Amino acid sequence: MNESSRKEILIQVYKRLYTRFGPQHWWPGNSQFEIIVGAILTQNTNWGNVEKAIKNLKRARVLSPKGLIEIPVKKLAKLIRPSGYFNIKAKRLKNFIEFLFKEYQGDLKKMEQQPLTELRQKLLSVNGIGPETADSILLYAFEKPIFVVDAYTKRLLYRHHLIDEDDDYSSVQKIFMGHLKADVKFFNEYHALIVRLGKEICKKKPLCHLCPLNNLSYSLIFKCSSCHRYLLNQEERFPLKRGEGFLLQYFCPRCFKGE
Ligand code: SF4
Repeated sequence: MNESSRKEILIQVYKRLYTRFGPQHWWPGNSQFEIIVGAILTQNTNWGNVEKAIKNLKRARVLSPKGLIEIPVKKLAKLIRPSGYFNIKAKRLKNFIEFLFKEYQGDLKKMEQQPLTELRQKLLSVNGIGPETADSILLYAFEKPIFVVDAYTKRLLYRHHLIDEDDDYSSVQKIFMGHLKADVKFFNEYHALIVRLGKEICKKKPLCHLCPLNNLSYSLIFKCSSCHRYLLNQEERFPLKRGEGFLLQYFCPRCFKGE
């Protein structure tokens, strides 16, 4: 696929998702600090559980840099219990907060002033902060133009033959960053829309018949698993299901009939 069609597809995907779902108003959080804490707590859990944990932190009046640096890790773990993996996450929050005080004297404004690339490097050096969490913090808390990749993003791109199954975080991110204008609002909305799509439609078992992306031009969505020819929009395709997982493969009519 050439670069301009890749770009066109990414733009089409955005437009269609936005038309279907509208603005997503991300990130749900009342302050920069709350967004950062949410980004760490949301690892491997759903947002409802994070909200409960954040509520506990607010009730205990520790949802602030000062509050989290002072609270003992065991007590913190108890408060964030609803978010799951609470002992690990309590340590991760402590790691972040110690980093914040060591590097920026506990001041998020100072942290925010650091240029994107350096700040990203620093965040990634904090134990327990991986690329997705770092980029969520950069985009949603600090409004820096970086694209957040998650499992839903990979699933969508893989199913539309834009990436290989084992492509890593940074190569998936490059697809967006390399083809789209680096714009905070746009990246914010795009990622949120992909999450919405992944939760409601492009699930493990995709509901393609309900999906706004199911008839993209030519469409690069469905490729015959046998002859590897892309199938035209209206062309009949025959699903070859492999379990409940990631893979959803199709045969074109000729391969299906063994011609
Ligand atoms: S549900 Fe189907 S059409 Fe929609 S994004 Fe997923 S694979 Fe594509």
